[in-house]
Amino acid sequence: MSEQLPFLPYGKQAVSEDDVAAVCAVLKSDYLTTGPEVPRFEGALCSAIGAAHSVAVSNGTAALHAACFAAEIGPGDEVLVPAITFVASANCVRYLGGEPIFVDVHPDSGLIDLDDAQRKITSKTKAVIPVHLNGRPADLDALSAIAQKHGLTVIEDAAHALGAKYRDSRIGDCTYSDMAIFSFHPVKHITTAEGGSISTGSDVLATRLRQFRDHGIERRFEHMRLESPPSWYYEQHTLGFNYRLSAIQCVLGTSQLTRLSGFIERRNQIAAFYDRAFEGVSYVTPAERAPATDLHAYHLYPLLIDYDGAGTTREGVVAGLRERRIGTQVHYIPVPAQPYYSARGWKASDFPGAAAYYARALSIPMYPTLSDDDVKRVVEAVSDVLSSGT
Ligand SMILES: *Cc1c(COP(=O)(O)O)cnc(C)c1O
Repeated sequence: MSEQLPFLPYGKQAVSEDDVAAVCAVLKSDYLTTGPEVPRFEGALCSAIGAAHSVAVSNGTAALHAACFAAEIGPGDEVLVPAITFVASANCVRYLGGEPIFVDVHPDSGLIDLDDAQRKITSKTKAVIPVHLNGRPADLDALSAIAQKHGLTVIEDAAHALGAKYRDSRIGDCTYSDMAIFSFHPVKHITTAEGGSISTGSDVLATRLRQFRDHGIERRFEHMRLESPPSWYYEQHTLGFNYRLSAIQCVLGTSQLTRLSGFIERRNQIAAFYDRAFEGVSYVTPAERAPATDLHAYHLYPLLIDYDGAGTTREGVVAGLRERRIGTQVHYIPVPAQPYYSARGWKASDFPGAAAYYARALSIPMYPTLSDDDVKRVVEAVSDVLSSGT
């Protein structure tokens, strides 16, 4: 019987007929990569988030790599990274030979603990990468004050937070930071299949980011070293990569962006329903909400579950929900606990906030095309699994 129910994953893209038509049309145009669709998508992103510059790249990890390059991270530099995040937030520092310095998080929100961040600042600290975990903005005002005091570059990992607001500022407008990165992976708020971007208010950083995604090449005559360059000329100024996003992907992104505010509204409706419903369920607390002054983008909806109290285990709950055709995921295993980082001397036990968050977290389905009935089904399944212990 339950086999008949549709499977509800923890996250899912929403591709419309208009998106499909836009992609089909660009396939018949002159440009499949570069061409006018790339700046068009970048312009649409700038309008959506209020940024001066947006640079589209091939994925969110490439966006982090480009941002660290633009911030001139190199060997010997330290960059503060919260212990609870996707591994890419730390790996980008390693790509350039720098060291991610892990910072503990608040146990009920998973957001960076700024007291611990301050304790970990040394003369080598060059930047900080706050993560707006689940779509809830980190405390950017307090963070930027610390960064200013110590001369740190702020790179927001906003992969979870497209469409979020911190007080009056849209995440990505870089009011409190030097750069912000986004991911357009299918589980994120809008998708280009694979894709990402970096936004910045700085012309200098924007130039470095654009060169980095295109082999380090400069094609604008006014920026070349050669005087009066010929029409076919280009110059390589730095060592970059091919991190370009194709026109096909940009068209999909531009089409998806037109529906961003509706997506965020629906995600907030679903979150409000879950918040109310789980008040009555024992051993379950939703991850801490955003203050009323902010807009949460609800990329994820994690429950913090007392598995012992409920007489079960996380694996038991995951299996019980899977039987009821409900997908879940754990976001995230503390990054210092990953074998790659423990081999570099990090110990998960040094991050009690991250350990407490990780021990309880379980992300349940959250995406805009979930129906009201789907949402009720999720709540009933969670209550059912926790009360039966299976
Ligand atoms: C998704 C994600 C990334 C990386 O994005 P990709 O597009 O998958 O490379 C980076 N940081 C966080 C927090 C993410 O969730």
